[in-house]
Amino acid sequence: MAYKCVRQLNLFKRHVNRTFQTRQQSPISTGPNFALSDDQKNIQEMARKFARNEIIPVAPHHDRTGEYPADIIKKAWEIGLLNLNIPTEYGGAGLDCLTGCLVGEEFAYACSGIETALMITDVAQLPLMLAGSDAQKRKYLGRLVEEPLVGAYCATEPGAGSDVNGIKTKAERKGDEYILNGQKMWITNGGVANWYFVLARTNPDPKAPASKAFSGFIVERDFPGVIPGRKEINMGQRASDTRGITFEDVRIPKENLLCGEGAGFRIAMQTFDKSRPNVAAGACGVAQRCLDESVKYALERKTFGVPIAQHQSVSNMLADMAIGVETSRLAYMLAAWQTDNGQRNSYTASIAKCYAADTANKIVADGVQIFGGNGFNSEYPMEKLMRDAKIYQIYEGTSQIQRIVISRCLMEMAKSGEMGRQ
Ligand SMILES: Cc1cc2nc3c(=O)[nH]c(=O)nc-3n(C[C@H](O)[C@H](O)[C@H](O)COP(=O)(O)OP(=O)(O)OC[C@H]3O[C@@H](n4cnc5c(N)ncnc54)[C@H](O)[C@@H]3O)c2cc1C
Repeated sequence: MAYKCVRQLNLFKRHVNRTFQTRQQSPISTGPNFALSDDQKNIQEMARKFARNEIIPVAPHHDRTGEYPADIIKKAWEIGLLNLNIPTEYGGAGLDCLTGCLVGEEFAYACSGIETALMITDVAQLPLMLAGSDAQKRKYLGRLVEEPLVGAYCATEPGAGSDVNGIKTKAERKGDEYILNGQKMWITNGGVANWYFVLARTNPDPKAPASKAFSGFIVERDFPGVIPGRKEINMGQRASDTRGITFEDVRIPKENLLCGEGAGFRIAMQTFDKSRPNVAAGACGVAQRCLDESVKYALERKTFGVPIAQHQSVSNMLADMAIGVETSRLAYMLAAWQTDNGQRNSYTASIAKCYAADTANKIVADGVQIFGGNGFNSEYPMEKLMRDAKIYQIYEGTSQIQRIVISRCLMEMAKSGEMGRQ
């Protein structure tokens, strides 16, 4: 009886707390509420511990050598920090986009190269989750759950990055198979993935609109004719494995086509709406790390007899960094919240990705400045953070492309008379 009373009291308290939190944080009843659930807080804490204990100590080694962090992937898989968004019926954790973002921010705080290596599999999973059949999901999502394997997302080509319409890789139907030929470029996890999502042209008419010209396929690494190139030597995020991939007469069973011919472009765009909040969270993690390191340094380093934090031009830089970090976080939370609540989020996902990426780059440049000469040297964390941050303005759609998406959304909203939010 006593137990029952305590339980009822707790339930009542929880109800009051929730109501209070909702009113405090979200004055508009239909608006977003960013109060994290207990589950989200627990996973965030778990990811934070993992990042600090397992990733930070080895990050300089992977940056220096470019060695792929296979051990980290295995450990993260073992404790359940991978495959967070795969639905439970396929063996995943079935968690929402926001939870994935919280984990991504923690990983990127520790090393954004390792974060990209870990999180790109989530991007590869999205086309399957959005458009795959039950059998396709069971087979390919199931593999990632059963073993510490990773996937890759192949859209970009040597002649087609921002301009998806320029994709030349083609898949031709022959009987019960498609024959894939072409070349992809800059593919993260290109040399280590077990399977790839591949965007290829299936409509031979060069005038066919992008919305009908492309199809999405799952291509296994072991299919004959799949040839990953050499690992690229990049400016930053060196732990991540980036390669070109050549497809030479690769025979793909027709069962590996996602959702029917012509659906590829739509699948790729819907994937970005769900993955861009997470990219923004990664940029936010880099920015938060830079802020923390800068505050610590500014309190320790003395010039003219006082810690440099006491010079107003330095403390103003720290304040601007904090403004950038907090607003980046709110931006990715809003974009994730929208998709988790079934709302279209192209507008907020592009805002979050663009803002967080551009802001992280401004923040790391200021971080180097605060460290002075030490900021320019690899013994200190700033140099790596600055190299790592740049890619956030390039992959998953450049900052220029995000602005195009945002302005298109604005035009749509203006036409439909719904300015303010999509
Ligand atoms: C490390 C790394 C990892 C990557 N991982 C992947 C991956 O896993 N899978 C994948 O498919 N791709 C991946 N990419 C590719 C990435 O998404 C592309 O590099 C990016 O989309 C830009 O394409 P691009 O390099 O061809 O540049 P381009 O499209 O040639 O653009 C060059 C410049 O022109 C600007 N520009 C282009 N068009 C316009 C326009 N209409 N208006 C204004 N400005 C414009 C761009 O913003 C950019 O500044 C990765 C790239 C890198 C470097």
